[in-house]
Amino acid sequence: MVRKKSLGFTVLKGIGASKGIGIGRIFILETSDLRINRKAVPDKPEAELLRYRSARDRVSVRFNQAAAHILKELGSGKGNILDVHALILKDQGLNQEIEFLIRGGKKAEVAVETVFRGISERQKLAENKYLKERFTVSRDIGRQLVMELLGAHRLEVVKGKGDVILVARELTPFALADHPANIKGFAVETGGPTGHAAILARAYNIPMVLGIAGIESAVENGARALLNGATGELIINPSPEIVADSLRLRGLEIDGEAKAGAEKAVSETKDGRRIELLMNIANTHGLNTANTCGADGVGLFRTEFLFLNKETLPTEEEQFLEFEKVAKALFPRKVIIRTADFGGDKQPPAAAETGGTPAYPGLRGIRYCLAHPALFETHLRAILRAGTAGNVGIMFPMVPGLETFREAKVFLKRTREKMAWEGVKLGRAMRVGIMIEVPSAALMAGVLARESDFFSIGTNDLFQYTLGIDREDNSYSAYERFLPPSIVQLVQLVVESAHKKKKPAAVCGELAHQLWALPLLIGLGVDELSMDAAHIPAVRQAVRALSYAWCRELAQKALLLETPAAIRDLLKGAAGE
Ligand code: PEP
Ligand code: MG
Repeated sequence: MVRKKSLGFTVLKGIGASKGIGIGRIFILETSDLRINRKAVPDKPEAELLRYRSARDRVSVRFNQAAAHILKELGSGKGNILDVHALILKDQGLNQEIEFLIRGGKKAEVAVETVFRGISERQKLAENKYLKERFTVSRDIGRQLVMELLGAHRLEVVKGKGDVILVARELTPFALADHPANIKGFAVETGGPTGHAAILARAYNIPMVLGIAGIESAVENGARALLNGATGELIINPSPEIVADSLRLRGLEIDGEAKAGAEKAVSETKDGRRIELLMNIANTHGLNTANTCGADGVGLFRTEFLFLNKETLPTEEEQFLEFEKVAKALFPRKVIIRTADFGGDKQPPAAAETGGTPAYPGLRGIRYCLAHPALFETHLRAILRAGTAGNVGIMFPMVPGLETFREAKVFLKRTREKMAWEGVKLGRAMRVGIMIEVPSAALMAGVLARESDFFSIGTNDLFQYTLGIDREDNSYSAYERFLPPSIVQLVQLVVESAHKKKKPAAVCGELAHQLWALPLLIGLGVDELSMDAAHIPAVRQAVRALSYAWCRELAQKALLLETPAAIRDLLKGAAGE
């Protein structure tokens, strides 16, 4: 997707994954070619083994440092991104394979490269997404090990080279965690906006554009470049006018964010409609951001992350301590704990303990838990114990309809009764809600609203299952402001059904923080929006600039439209664009 302009600059278009403007000289990171000298004669196997083990230890230390760095710098739930790296590095089978080759007379880097090449070949063939993800991480570790053995340190190579726009075929979270400060932007061929590297780039506030096909051969080292992470453009040799305009826009952006940060006002429209803004969290890191961003509570606690990257299932006590920490930190604000949503790309390594690996898209969410009663009971006990203070609510993911919801509620009730009989201290009964993530639940919202205390619409999965597009596939992220009429109709149905029974309806998928969709979501009557804490100040500012009456009118118009393009045009028009 290269657009040549006669004015002498070139625009490469990708997907904006982290907004902001970066200016610098192109630096192409050689990722594919590590130049291993296969002809070099290895030292004695014992010496090679030592060389391998000490390189492995150094990489391990660097993983830990990077993980600690992420925790310290970002402190908002990003700290566990590298946990899986550390686990794989300790993998006995892998180490035995490498050491076996070294003992057989191979140089350490050749042995490492051979074993990891085997892994990436298996990766290409793997059908299971979980394995695919694991193998990508393994390949990254293999690279780190080879680089360590060759004395090549990835992003460090740009140190002292002035401001740089880093171009790479792929970029891993590990590399990013250690980036030198002169990197002003990332332009990458692979990866998606929901990937871990993109999450870190956003957390570090470094502009990032992904999905520029053939990027390494489309640019030259040393060329002047401007990266616009909002529009997804990499401009090579930008004119002074482009640079000036972009910088002016960046100024506006920064100014807006600063004001938003200072804004501690209530999130309500000009005509007084209160829209609660809540946080999505995956663990207990960064709970202090709840205060700095002025969150009204936690709208989605993705508890399954407590189970991932663990060799065994966490005990009731371990889970309880995590849930209690959140409930106490946020009190008296509400905390909605979602029961573990295993399945798809979130599979616990400890799944074997529970008698099987969750399938995708088969046994997922609440159905997985109901099929594993021992796991579910321990999990619910921990949640119920954390709920004594009264601010905790519970919601079940991937509920397909009434029968499953009833089954889950009965399970919860029995667990509670059993605990009461044991004399465990319990608070009053919790509010119990449903995540609306599949069309069957959305279509049955009228029925479900009778028995559910609230709804929270998971638009990430609702898009996936309504449109039949894989949420991991980035090709549809390239569509601008993509909101199909089917989703608008479903949201309307869910919200209206909730309101008829005087129950609130939230949105907790990624759509919740999209400013372009905000007037429509408010107009459809959504009561609460739950998102990464970082988005809350800007969304609050936007809510305060809107009037509910105007949003209602806009939503009525949107409900009559028949294509995503018509809805996009309506929203653009409404935003004065
Ligand atoms: C969703 O599906 O929109 C959602 C919030 O849940 P998750 O992203 O964890 O699947
Ligand atoms: Mg979901």
